[in-house]
Amino acid sequence: MEELVALCKRRGFVFQAGDIYGGLQGVYDYGPLGVELKNNLKAAWWRAMVYERDDVEGLDAAILTNPKVLHYSGHEDTFSDPLVDCLACHARWRADHLADDRCPKCGSPKLTPPRPFNLMFKTHAGPVEDAAALAYLRPETAQSIFTNFKHVLDSTSRRLPFGIAQIGKAFRNEITPRNFIFRVREFEQMELEFFVAPGEDEAWHEEWVQARLDWWARQGVESNRLALYRVPAEELAHYSKGTVDIMYRFPHGTEELEGIANRTDFDLGSHTKGQSALDIDAAVKSNSDSNARLAMFDQEAKAWRVPYVIEPSAGVDRGVLAVLNEAYRVETLDTGAERTVLGLKPHLAPIKAAVLPLKRNHPGIVAKARDIKRNLQALGFGRVLFEDTGNIGKGYRRHDEVGTPICLTVDFQTVEEDDTVTVRDRDTMAQSRVAVGDLPAYMADYFTP
Ligand code: ATP
Repeated sequence: MEELVALCKRRGFVFQAGDIYGGLQGVYDYGPLGVELKNNLKAAWWRAMVYERDDVEGLDAAILTNPKVLHYSGHEDTFSDPLVDCLACHARWRADHLADDRCPKCGSPKLTPPRPFNLMFKTHAGPVEDAAALAYLRPETAQSIFTNFKHVLDSTSRRLPFGIAQIGKAFRNEITPRNFIFRVREFEQMELEFFVAPGEDEAWHEEWVQARLDWWARQGVESNRLALYRVPAEELAHYSKGTVDIMYRFPHGTEELEGIANRTDFDLGSHTKGQSALDIDAAVKSNSDSNARLAMFDQEAKAWRVPYVIEPSAGVDRGVLAVLNEAYRVETLDTGAERTVLGLKPHLAPIKAAVLPLKRNHPGIVAKARDIKRNLQALGFGRVLFEDTGNIGKGYRRHDEVGTPICLTVDFQTVEEDDTVTVRDRDTMAQSRVAVGDLPAYMADYFTP
């Protein structure tokens, strides 16, 4: 983990937020390469969940949330972790994360009994800071999918089964944020709510677990570091009939990468006037005062039915950490030298290709390199970098370290002889000459996921 954190800072993937003022615990910023990697991971998810299917629509809803949404969803009453205080040193801990009954900081056994600590961030919308202006930063993207259910249904004429996908920020006031970008207070989620007919939910649940495992494999996450955890009944979230967590062996231990929950009709039911879904809690059970009927009319039964929903919910930041951990390796070359390589899948690489002129002060070579960069950039595979540092060997090593799959070197042969460039491969370090005219096809071969 230390090596990864150091690489992330040194090469501009992830920075501690606001560190010039001492930072803010559990909050991170993504730098020039981090933003590319993160965007590529999100794009891969969107492609798989929305574009490659014909039964999913997209959504991008607001972060600021009307408290009623999170009241009727059950979050105001139940979205909490058990908090304990150390009576000796006043440190605060999440009770279910303690290895034993002692304070991890000072070793004192004097801890308060656990009490629920609600994880939602509150703010005020508007100039008056009173209860009527209360708003929450959403703790999950899911609720806005449920509150928009009817709008999406009416605007797209969907029938069951169909899903709504969303990627966006979520906020949780974690008691003890830790392990770099694994557990943070501001993060991004990639969530699909897939609505199905009651009775078909369990089969769909299993199908989604498999689909999500396959997707992680395509992002380069090795299956031998993944495991499924079927969450026991006493650990289930308030909305869930069954949850399967995809666990990943992170550098700090095996923890949840993604959760796939069977949320039943709990959420749509809870937000529907006159409906109550599961008998979870008296407050939640009281009829919602929303003005919506989040249900579909069943023509055969001639009745309104609240669909069930299967939710694959993945964390972008945990995904970035897993993908980086998989890709990172230090190799010893035949020469005895070491090289650090990020063996990222090409579609995730922050920089797709670097175009390097052999001589930084040779106008013909430099102009040709700029020209190639412009043309390859226009292909739309992602960022192509023109870099005229003049030291090709160092350039290769720098790009190995940030995962650039190919480097193209423009030299005298390119401009004086045959219009070919040297293409150097990150993983094999093999070099070959490719005609400039063939580069678009070469790139397409390489980067089409
Ligand atoms: P944990 O048990 O680790 O706190 P959770 O079960 O509360 O996670 P979910 O509510 O299932 O998490 O959220 C879905 C996904 O969102 C998680 O699988 C994870 O990838 C991501 N996620 C949740 N909380 C955080 C966080 N504090 N920091 C980063 N990612 C998070």
